[in-house]
Amino acid sequence: MDPTQLSLVQAHAWLSSRQISARELTAAFLERIDRLNPRINAYITVDREGAMAAAQRADDRFRNGTATPLTGIPIGVKDLFCTENLTTTCGSKMLARFRPPYESTVTRKLKEAGAVILGKTNMDEFAMGSSNETSFFGPVRNPWDTERIPGGSSGGSAAALAARMAMATIGSDTGGSIRQPAALTGLTGLKPTYGRISRFGMIAFASSLDQAGPMTWTAEDAAIMLRVLAGHDPKDSTSIQAEVPDYVNTLVNRLDGLRIGIPEEYFPDSLDRETRHALEEAQQVLRDLGASMVSVSLPHTRYAIPTYYIIAPAEASSNLARYDGIRFGYRCEDPKDLKDLYTRTRSEGFGAEVKRRIMLGTYVLSSGYYDAYYRKAQKVRRLIARDFQDVYTGVDLLLTPTTPGTAFPLGEKKDDPVAMYLSDIFTINVNLAGLPGLSLPCGRDHQGLPIGMQLIAPVLKEERLLAAAHAFQSATPWHQRKPEL
Ligand code: GLN
Repeated sequence: MDPTQLSLVQAHAWLSSRQISARELTAAFLERIDRLNPRINAYITVDREGAMAAAQRADDRFRNGTATPLTGIPIGVKDLFCTENLTTTCGSKMLARFRPPYESTVTRKLKEAGAVILGKTNMDEFAMGSSNETSFFGPVRNPWDTERIPGGSSGGSAAALAARMAMATIGSDTGGSIRQPAALTGLTGLKPTYGRISRFGMIAFASSLDQAGPMTWTAEDAAIMLRVLAGHDPKDSTSIQAEVPDYVNTLVNRLDGLRIGIPEEYFPDSLDRETRHALEEAQQVLRDLGASMVSVSLPHTRYAIPTYYIIAPAEASSNLARYDGIRFGYRCEDPKDLKDLYTRTRSEGFGAEVKRRIMLGTYVLSSGYYDAYYRKAQKVRRLIARDFQDVYTGVDLLLTPTTPGTAFPLGEKKDDPVAMYLSDIFTINVNLAGLPGLSLPCGRDHQGLPIGMQLIAPVLKEERLLAAAHAFQSATPWHQRKPEL
């Protein structure tokens, strides 16, 4: 078997029994990246030397008995996690040459576990987008059909994994950026509870929504990754102080007694017909596994997009104020004076979508409009969160489509921001409410493109998501399908 096709569990068994060395495994992935990345554009930076050195250390750990389940596992990391001395661009010209002097907690934990970081994956600029077309480094192509988008903003992490240019990847999700690309590329993508994984060293987009998470082929692999990534971090004041369960031990094959809510607002008439059909079939699989379906309502669902597009840009406009051409990042040539330095640095360094968000954000935060927009949005956010709290008194999980349709052609929505924003309509409320959500494949459309479904759990109930997803994957073949490349 080609080692690039192994799951984390299988690879760990191969490495433990010396059927393969970490160096051989890493070399196989680097070779695949050389072959496929020019077509897919999933990586911005490939760290060959760093990866081979990490693989060498992994082999040592297997020899001296200190290996963990992630030791020697080749991983791709979204290019918004700071990696010490390794270029971290956030998909922007602004940071195209930025070499962080420090390590994000996520990448530090991966390294401490012995994982091999292959490189940094492409993304929408500052994680703003749903198609990976706003990247300064060019669009990422969907391995299932290279004329289509892979989703965004973690499009590079999705495409790298779908094309098997990594064994697992790390994404970030502010409004859907792990779950939506996972759905469009046939993967399992987990956005944990807000605060479950440290945001330290993650380049900020909207700080009250941003959350890191794993992208994997299976729920079992996601459980292995989350076990390493989750946990309190004194360097992130919003990280949660709570025990990290052994997510692998809590996986199950049956779902007897599990009550799954089907929120009517997530199945509008406009939902793609094939997606609706796949979700209906999925419900039947879940029933066969012992779960029961309950119709529920989340009445404030329709305010998701407007609420998010006030709060996220507001926070972004504040977070992105630091890119002023002085402290770090891009600086324009020959500024006339300080104002010219600020203006030209930001005009030249940011792309159109980022500028649109900054303008929107500064507008809704301006003193004349603060109450009308920002404060109002905060109140609606509370109502959205309360909808979920109410519904969880009667159900254990919610099941929804992840996206309104399958992967769309490159360019289709590029010049229509509202159409683009609507592609996250089913994922955004999960961030606004701070809940954990997971997307997993549940079918394919007539063109063979993957269809994803989303499970949403109450705060800190990631094990419930992973257990249900694992049971579903034990009974279905969708997560095993791979694109031909
Ligand atoms: N597509 C959404 C946006 O552009 C969400 C992005 C994200 O989750 N990072 O804001």
